[in-house]
Amino acid sequence: MRLLIVEDDAALGERLLERLKGAGYAVDLAADGIDGAHLGATEPYDAVILDLGLPGKPGLSMLREWRGAGNTVPVLILTARDGWSERVAGLQAGADDYLGKPFHVEELLARVQALLRRAAPVQAPELRTGPWRLDEARQCLLHDDGREQALTGTEFRLLRYFMRHPGQVLSKTRLAEHVYDYDAERDSNVIEVYVRRLRTLLGATCIETRRGQGYVFQGGR
Ligand code: CA
Repeated sequence: MRLLIVEDDAALGERLLERLKGAGYAVDLAADGIDGAHLGATEPYDAVILDLGLPGKPGLSMLREWRGAGNTVPVLILTARDGWSERVAGLQAGADDYLGKPFHVEELLARVQALLRRAAPVQAPELRTGPWRLDEARQCLLHDDGREQALTGTEFRLLRYFMRHPGQVLSKTRLAEHVYDYDAERDSNVIEVYVRRLRTLLGATCIETRRGQGYVFQGGR
């Protein structure tokens, strides 16, 4: 899952970036409305955290442009604590949720997770494949027999993306776009290596290869 933060308060932006990366997301940070509008229009994010008061271009204008162009990415807006009119305008412009400043980062994290859950086709509260359950908080796999399997950051992000899109053909490019942030070197061939690793962990049939198209997550038995 890949997130975009658009926030001109550098200290807050960095704090959110670190916290969300720590929670296992690939995250890009834009510090003004111009960069933010460009990234949001061109990169395939799974959710956007959008401050409304921004240099370059106001958050509301960005949001209206994205929605006007058919971009349905879930957007959580950050508003002034007493800014009820801002919140109304934001929701009318197509925001999915809002949070008034100042806020606790834990609440932001919970709201982002809720947005992603609502947006993904998987309705189940837990991500499960065969006897394995993905523990999103601890970024590991838990077996029904009590065993625990550690995952690297990339393994976790890739597996979570697969689990949220079961039965769909996912190209290596698309997987790389959702697993790595903008600054990472996105070599889609590396995805092959990680898929092999996930097959070792979960069984060879859990991820099917579609030659020339990509992969389909079938889940484990
Ligand atoms: Ca601001």
